[in-house]
Amino acid sequence: MSANSPTLVLDGKALSLKMEAQLLERVTRLREDTGRTPILATILVGDDPASETYVKMKGNACKRVGMDSIRRTLPSETTTEQLLAEIQALNANLDVHGILLQHPVPEQIDERACFDAIALEKDVDGVTCLGFGRMSMGERAYGSATPAGIMTLLKAYDIELAGKHAVVVGRSAILGKPMAMMLLGADATVTICHSKTRDLPALIKQADIVVGAVGRPEFIKAEWIKDGAVVVDAGYHPGGVGDIELAPLHGRVSAITPVPGGVGPMTIATLIEQSVTAAERQAS
Ligand code: NAP
Repeated sequence: MSANSPTLVLDGKALSLKMEAQLLERVTRLREDTGRTPILATILVGDDPASETYVKMKGNACKRVGMDSIRRTLPSETTTEQLLAEIQALNANLDVHGILLQHPVPEQIDERACFDAIALEKDVDGVTCLGFGRMSMGERAYGSATPAGIMTLLKAYDIELAGKHAVVVGRSAILGKPMAMMLLGADATVTICHSKTRDLPALIKQADIVVGAVGRPEFIKAEWIKDGAVVVDAGYHPGGVGDIELAPLHGRVSAITPVPGGVGPMTIATLIEQSVTAAERQAS
């Protein structure tokens, strides 16, 4: 692509609305066929305002597609054992089809142990080690919601991945690592970067596809990105900016996810989609 060609905007908001319309039909059909409504259980530990907002948004999305959700809110001083007991009760509850434990939990809690306590068939947010391992091996598992949503968005816009060099900046358990494995599974050649990576700009310059999952506002500079690249920004910060300096890239890269309205809505739509799938599988 030459400089100043139009840049394709990967509209996650529009795609998520389309997905929700299809999910409403699937939920209606499931209720007619089995008399059961899919239920997502959300667990919020503590009173972090951003986490509260995310849990509320997920509950609202359930309502929009005709699903039910049940909400467990636990105090900041909850112990690992208490949270594990809550998860085990939800695992055993046959009315609950999916479980979302909102990240991050207070620091005294062993978050990994709690994620891994979620039953695989209810791990609709794709946070367990078992689910990650199965996904990485190409076996059936629910993907981590944010990277799985990014993959759905790239597919919807026919973005070619096979043989392309994808550079993922960030290696968190919920985003960078599963993103890299999903891109690898789609035959991209993947480089994973993190805080100890040397000469990040030079690596990003080689990327056909750049995924920003750093958690720092506009940390990845526009000038590090080559002309014609596909730019995916998972970040969202106050002021409506992401992890990548996006504005100067319009007209210079081939495709871009907007912030807001790109990756964020796809994360929620993916969680809901995987919850409906879990309910369908558990009903059959
Ligand atoms: P995280 O757990 O804080 O991980 C950040 C990653 O960035 C780490 O792997 C870290 O490396 C790496 N990093 C930090 N400084 C760096 C540097 N100077 N150079 C290169 N790499 C660096 O964050 P996260 O949960 O993955 O989230 C990442 C972003 O995605 C955030 O902006 C978050 O808000 C956003 N997010 C969005 C959604 C959504 O639904 N839209 C969902 C989840 C997250 P080390 O491993 O070496 O520390």
